Formats: sequence, structure tokens, C-alpha cells
Amino acid sequence: GLPSEIFAPRKNSAGIEFGDRRALDHFLAARDRTGREPIAATCGFKGADAKGPVDIRSPVDGVLVGRSHHLSASGAKALVTEAARHVRAAEAVPAASRATWLRKTADLMERRQGAFMGLLAREAGKTVDDGIAEIREAVDFLRFYAAEAERLFAEPTLLPGPTGEENRLRYRSRGVAICISPWNFPLAIFTGQVAAALAAGNVVIAKPAEQTPLVASLAVDLLHEAGFPAHGLFLAPGDGEAGAALVSHDATAVVAFTGSTETAFAINRALAARNAPIAPLIAETGGINGLVVDATALPEQVADDVVMSAFRSAGQRCSALRVLYVQEDVADRMIEMIAGAAAELVVGDPHDLSTDVGPVIDAEQHAMLTSHIERMEQSQTVRFRGRLGDDLPSKGHWFAPHIVELDKPEALELDEVCDSIERTGFGLTLGVHSRIDETVKTVAERLTVGNIYVNRNIIGAIVGSQPFGGSGLSGTGPKAGGPNYVARFAREQVTSVNT
Ligand code: GLU
Repeated sequence: GLPSEIFAPRKNSAGIEFGDRRALDHFLAARDRTGREPIAATCGFKGADAKGPVDIRSPVDGVLVGRSHHLSASGAKALVTEAARHVRAAEAVPAASRATWLRKTADLMERRQGAFMGLLAREAGKTVDDGIAEIREAVDFLRFYAAEAERLFAEPTLLPGPTGEENRLRYRSRGVAICISPWNFPLAIFTGQVAAALAAGNVVIAKPAEQTPLVASLAVDLLHEAGFPAHGLFLAPGDGEAGAALVSHDATAVVAFTGSTETAFAINRALAARNAPIAPLIAETGGINGLVVDATALPEQVADDVVMSAFRSAGQRCSALRVLYVQEDVADRMIEMIAGAAAELVVGDPHDLSTDVGPVIDAEQHAMLTSHIERMEQSQTVRFRGRLGDDLPSKGHWFAPHIVELDKPEALELDEVCDSIERTGFGLTLGVHSRIDETVKTVAERLTVGNIYVNRNIIGAIVGSQPFGGSGLSGTGPKAGGPNYVARFAREQVTSVNT
């Protein structure tokens, strides 16, 4: 077990209580005041060349939310060169100040959570439920990594050695850290990566997903307001071209990436192709996440947890449930209950409190899902097809939940289920619903997944309690929100003195 005392006392954010009507109304009013005027995302370094502004349109109704000044490849290169000039200044900032600024950012973010919700809803299509959870997670990352900065960077650790010799280990910053984050958690994952890289004393270049630069820009403004100097943290709006240029620069010392496995491979190759010091990649990618349900599981709970895991956030989580394995004798009944629970989901405008599932992020994702279901229909049995609400804006990217029964040549034993999950090569999240301890143990033992959830849903990892991330094709580790994350953004130095 991990000694709990390595974590400084810290409480996770309380968020907004749905039952507290006054607080909720206040929050929603602030949400609705935000983003009425188009806002802009621009690079913090004015010397970096940008392409023409790109319109950011809401996945809800296609209305313009803002414009992003995407960096060109040469602009991204110039930005890394500029960032490298400030590495010494960043390292000279005491860890205690970095921690103070991170906590101040957390306080500011909580105070202005309505504004963040406004952009999460309009730019990313987040429901109120999902938005509140995401803001809380971002705030938790800020406070957690602040404590980690203090823990790791306080005093050098005295190591054992012979008499007459003193050995001390300390952490130092790496230099320029590149953080590349996804659109599915445009605030939480963006803030988490950046906070950890800053906690370790790096100069940080933060490249949000091209679909969601605006909420990221608001987060960067807060970090600056809280104390991080302009030359210690740069927003780098851009697409894949900018990302590729950032990671292939010789001065790039560490890269954090959350996104597709394919892009993680490309980043790895780009880093390896440089004639420069070896830079680590911290990658968190996708998963083909399974949930194993046996005949002892409680059907109502399984139904709730499946619907939550598969369809909340419109299924757009890397942790989301993809493949459900149900013991054959209870399968039909279970699937019926799940379909019943899924039928209750309201797909619609995420601004409405009654909405459970908002739009998917863009036309490309929508087309991908549509063609996937069309392919499935050719050869498999669609057991459930959700309904879209009436009067949804026609420019929104609406996609209803589906459940498909896969044609399997024969029933699988538990061992074969494990083999089939293992064979995917992914290893992110996994669920087990069973009241037989042996089943839970077998599955946990056999599989190389990063996060195992027993008799509950498989999403929404909590900072500090459920450090998150997988292995294999799902990522490199260390886990976000865990005790080893900040250290990866730092290098270690040992001084041995003959006394
Ligand atoms: N941490 C999130 C969760 O536990 C998922 C993050 C992601 O989708 O990248 O659900």
C-alpha cells in the first residue's frame, strides 16, 4: 500500500450541489453571461507566426463561440526557441511560490466556475453535470500538484551511505515542457497536464486541442493572474501541424500528451528522430474498455453503471465502456434492463438541466460514429437505438446511444474473456460486476489494465484517490492525479559530498 502520509492534507473541491437551488441558479446565470461575444485564443508570444484565425463553432448549434489564431509550424518553432530562453528564470522560482500560484488558480477557478461552465457548454457541448465534475477535477489537479511541488521540491532527501559521505537527492526542472491535450476534457486534462509541468518548475507550452482552445485560454489567463509570469507559461493554439513542430524542436525536454494512440506513436517517432537529448513522453491514450458481468451481479446496478459508463459525456471519455461481457444465462434479461435504462436518457441541448447526453464534438466524430453503426448493422444485431429529442438545433452534432450485440461463434469462459480483453493490446479501464471474490481476483490478476472498478461504474476517476492512466496501447504512465506524475516532469540530481 501507498503510505497516505505522503499526500499533504488536502480536500477535493466540493463543486455545486444540485439541491442548492440558489447556488445553482447563480452558477447558471454566470454560465449564460459567458461567451455571448466571440472570444479569441492567441499565442502568448507575439513573435510566433499564426495562420489566419479559425472559427470555433459550438457543437450545440453551430454558432460562433470564438476564434483561434492557430500557430503555423514556424510559429511553433519560434515559440519553443523563445520558451528555452526562460528556463533558468522558471527554475529559480521557489517551489513554494509555484504551489501558492497553483492554489490561487484553484481558488480563482472555483470563484469563476460559471464562466468556465459557459465555455464548456458552448465550446465542448458539456452538460451541467459533466461541466461541474470537470471544473472540480481541474481544481483538484491544481491543489494536488501544488502539494506535490512542495513534497518533491522542498528539501533534498538525505540518502544512506558510508560514514564520511553525504548523499542527497533532489528534483530539478527539465526545461521546456510541451503539454498537448484533448477536446474531451478541455479544461480538466488541459489544466492537469499544465499544473504538473509548472509544479516541476518547467517553462510550459500548452497546446489545447484544435476544437477547444477557448476554455484553455481562459485557464491560462487564470494561471497568469495567479502569479505565473507570461514567459513561464505560453498558450499555443494550433492543430496537428503546430503540435508536430513543438515536439520536434531540439529544446523540447518533456512532452505530455493525451489523445489517440496513433498520435502518441507519431510523437514518439518525432522525439526519437531529433538530434537532441532524449526527452520522455508521458502519453495517455485510448482504451477498448470492458465490463465483465456474471450471474451474481445486481441487475439494476449493472444497468445504471453501464449506462453511466458508456453514454455519459456522450461516450466521449477514454475511460468509457466499449465492450460488455455478460454471463450467458442472465444476458437477455440484463441487456433488456440496460436498454430500459438507456431509453431514459435525454439527448439534447446541454444547457438544459434535464439533458443527460449532449452533442458529440464535431462533424468528423459524428460521421465516424454514423459509419460505425452502419457497418455494425450489416453483420450484427442492434439491440438498442436511442431517440433524439424533438426540436434539436439542426447544426448540432447529435448522436443517440446504441447497444449492439456482437455475434460470437461460441460462449466464452472467464479465462477466454480475459484473453480477448488482453488481445486488444489496450489496458485502460475495466469493470467487474460480481459478488464472487474469486472472479474479481482472477480478472484483476490476469489483466494489465490501469484502473479496475468493482461493482460500480468505470468512469470519473478522482484526483488523489483513483490515479488515472493505463498501459500498453493505452499509455505510458505515470498516472495523472497520482504520486509519481509530477516527478516525471522533473529530473533527479544526486550530490555526494566527502565530508
Ligand atoms: N479521467 C477520466 C475518467 O476517469 C477520463 C479521461 C479521458 O477520457 O481522457 O473518466
